[in-house]
Amino acid sequence: EESSDSDGETEPARCFLRRLSTKKEIERLTSIKEGYLHKQNSSFQRLVKRYFKLHAGSLYYSTDNKSTIFNQIALIDTTIAECSLKNINHSFQVITPSRNLIICADSRREMEEWMGAIRSAVARDISPPALNMTLQRHNWCVLPTIRPTFCNVCGESLQSVSRSGVTLHGLACEVCKYRTHKRCAIKSHPTCKWSTLASMEHSIVEDAEGNLLMPHQWQMGNFPANSKCLVCKKSCGSMLRLQDLSCLWCQATVHSGCQHKTPTCNLGPAHVSILPPTSITMMDEGGFWRAQKPSDSSPLLVFLNSKSGDSQGVKMLRRFKQLLNPAQVFDLMNGGPRTGLRLFQNFQTFRVLVCGGDGSMGWVLNEIDKLGLHGQCQLGILPLGTGNDLSRVLGWGASFDDDTQLSLMLERLERAQIQMFDRFVQCVCNLSLSVSCSATKPTPDIQEAFQLIEPIVAFEDTAADHLSRILHSQSHNVVISSAMVLCSIVQEIVSKVASTIEVLEGGTTSDDSLAYKCMMLNDKMDALLKTLAKESSLEQGLIESKNCSKQQHHSDKQLDHSQPDQQTAYRSKEQLMCRANSLKKAIRNIVEVTERTVDEQNHQTICFNMENYKRSLMNKSPSSSPSPIPLTKPNVENLTFTSPTIRSSPGNIPTATSVATINDDSAQAATASQQNEVIYGDAGTTCTCGGGSHGGSKDLSFPLLNVPLLHSQPSRDDFYEKCVMNNYLGVGLDAKIALDFHNKREEQPHKCRSRTRNMMWYGVLGGKEILQRTHKNLDQRVRLECDGKLIPLPNLQGIVVLNIPSYMGGTNFWGGSKGDEFFLPPSIDDKILEVVAVFGSIQLGISRVINLQRHRIAQCHSVRITIIGDEKMPVQVDGEAWLQNPGVIWIQHKNRAQVLIRHRAFEETHKTWTERNK
Ligand SMILES: [Zn+2]
Ligand SMILES: [Zn+2]
Ligand SMILES: [Zn+2]
Ligand SMILES: [Zn+2]
Repeated sequence: EESSDSDGETEPARCFLRRLSTKKEIERLTSIKEGYLHKQNSSFQRLVKRYFKLHAGSLYYSTDNKSTIFNQIALIDTTIAECSLKNINHSFQVITPSRNLIICADSRREMEEWMGAIRSAVARDISPPALNMTLQRHNWCVLPTIRPTFCNVCGESLQSVSRSGVTLHGLACEVCKYRTHKRCAIKSHPTCKWSTLASMEHSIVEDAEGNLLMPHQWQMGNFPANSKCLVCKKSCGSMLRLQDLSCLWCQATVHSGCQHKTPTCNLGPAHVSILPPTSITMMDEGGFWRAQKPSDSSPLLVFLNSKSGDSQGVKMLRRFKQLLNPAQVFDLMNGGPRTGLRLFQNFQTFRVLVCGGDGSMGWVLNEIDKLGLHGQCQLGILPLGTGNDLSRVLGWGASFDDDTQLSLMLERLERAQIQMFDRFVQCVCNLSLSVSCSATKPTPDIQEAFQLIEPIVAFEDTAADHLSRILHSQSHNVVISSAMVLCSIVQEIVSKVASTIEVLEGGTTSDDSLAYKCMMLNDKMDALLKTLAKESSLEQGLIESKNCSKQQHHSDKQLDHSQPDQQTAYRSKEQLMCRANSLKKAIRNIVEVTERTVDEQNHQTICFNMENYKRSLMNKSPSSSPSPIPLTKPNVENLTFTSPTIRSSPGNIPTATSVATINDDSAQAATASQQNEVIYGDAGTTCTCGGGSHGGSKDLSFPLLNVPLLHSQPSRDDFYEKCVMNNYLGVGLDAKIALDFHNKREEQPHKCRSRTRNMMWYGVLGGKEILQRTHKNLDQRVRLECDGKLIPLPNLQGIVVLNIPSYMGGTNFWGGSKGDEFFLPPSIDDKILEVVAVFGSIQLGISRVINLQRHRIAQCHSVRITIIGDEKMPVQVDGEAWLQNPGVIWIQHKNRAQVLIRHRAFEETHKTWTERNK
């Protein structure tokens, strides 16, 4: 049988008794983990497949599970170490006094699972991750270096001379750089880099008032020989033996004799971002650690997706733990973002760095939603792997893979600028299943969140939708039914606002209080509802008596041809308009007051953040420091639902977004709607939409008239929240390509590993789409509404809705970042979506190279896409694709997050300023 010592660490060749166990003996014990792994055969360094069984205290292996005899390794005085940084085989070593076994797993995940399981079998305690923070053990790694290195346990050199020359062996802790021989690891000092106050044990230092001070954490030797002593300024360190000390936190070096002259540590260059272990002192009832914010810094919470970008993620994770407190760095693959957010939850404001792709960012944002921390945290991104659209937009680049540049990254983050970032929610209502819709009804808490998060915006969209119908429709019964729906929605929200306000104001109702206004509105609503009910029954009678054709309510866009009715209809419509106008004024009042309050609050939060930020920077660069972060003015929008695109472009009302152009004079409404122009098309066709008459360039008699949903709009209750859209949503061709790519990746992960290959696959799959033309007639399978306005679609293959000007890996699909006479400049904090048409794969390919302009459809606040027919439709949100059942997709504003934008100008000023002051 083979011996497993395969590397050259010089240990006395010993003859040990191999311990064997029979299958029967093993089966009496409960197995912790078992399965096939590869074991390295020492003689030829070949890999052989073995079946492993792990029990408390012992690891067993044999050729397969059916073997009667198993090899046994007693897990006493055992060290588990990962093999090298570039670990392609996913291998690790199990080092015991008698054996050194090299084991390879199929994936990094499997390797980590086994390493964790064996560690717990040795330690005989399996504690939750939160508790593990106090028990920071070393993370051993087989790490060769070129420099002479000495064992921190026995002090001897890790160099050895073998046939192949001089080599360095032994283990290094990936966090604290503690070095040992493999045989010495078990005798090493058990404390790794401190994480919590408890882990500091005897090193805790207090000043005269009993305040906790941060001492240095000294590690002996193994640093460059030309280092300077912090105390006596003479050179220290040695290449010849283990001597003198370096601090794990501030990186200062001292002579062993000078050590006592520098009692406290300033945490070094990254001090602003470090969460000192002295700040982590308590645990809440849920078993989560809660940190106290240090008075003079702005600690950074780091989330890293170790699965991102090949092995980069793992390297970055180590580097962050070396630079910061290991307890403030979290692997998203190991328990998600909750533990980290809980740790920082007590902070009034804190910065979060998400290292990974758009998916990781979405994950963290969702958890922030759940914990309600958007007011407190500001998020930056360090892009790993592919598909980092948000990162590009925020100025952090397409990808970051140099782990030696991380301290520079931390500095940039300290100088970053805060901006608000819109997030939209995608709700769906399955149509063909309208009967079983109740099965997919929102759970109470989603529904509640829905109504509480941004009631004004949601309300605004629906209200605008119905008001536009009231004003544009020639059909009396459409007007009445819309008005009734509108009234009930408004009433519901008004009562909600009123009760909230009443609680806030303590029951006092002054004349101009919001509660009072709501009350007044409520009364008006009641009166209107009564009138409407009367009108409706009257109308019903009329329709029956005239035996009116059914087509009348097929579409609210169709003219009512029954001439005799029209006079009656118009007379009461005028009365209705009168009431609607007074109603509109009342609602506007409320919206304005609410907006003002919200804006004031936003402004305060941002100012407050700025103050904190300035203060933290002041400490670093006193007095004449260049004015730090320019204030991002909270986006004050003049929210009046009468015109959904608020800041309409100069000139006319050219975008499809200025939908419900409700002029006080209702007579103008009809003509105004005819002027609404949509710009689209590869040939740059301009086409009129809306109103009863068709612009002439295209026949707009939709093939949709038979679709039953057109006159029975799904109500809010029919929708459930499918997911949050941070970046973009695609329907049709592009989603199909994303879906195919996703399926390919699942089938053949190795083919899609690298970034360039990813792009190539997109190309190949896109090419296939051109040939098949699967989504050639998408315009007949979907119905697009922007801010309640039906948009006539050209012959297209896909629709893309953008929140940020970067799409599927860096394309500015909207084309251009400036505003023009038709459109506003795209922005991430304007609550406006950009809607774009996709004409084919060629365009998808080309748009990476040139800027396209002609495919723009609209800018608007909310988008509804109805999928017609029985076929499922590919849909993708932020790169995640799926097949969506026929139904309605509704995208509307959800909330705003605070994000950190790279501020190059300030970085420059700061640099020249520090250089000048040297
Ligand atoms: Zn040693
Ligand atoms: Zn360590
Ligand atoms: Zn220090
Ligand atoms: Zn000294």
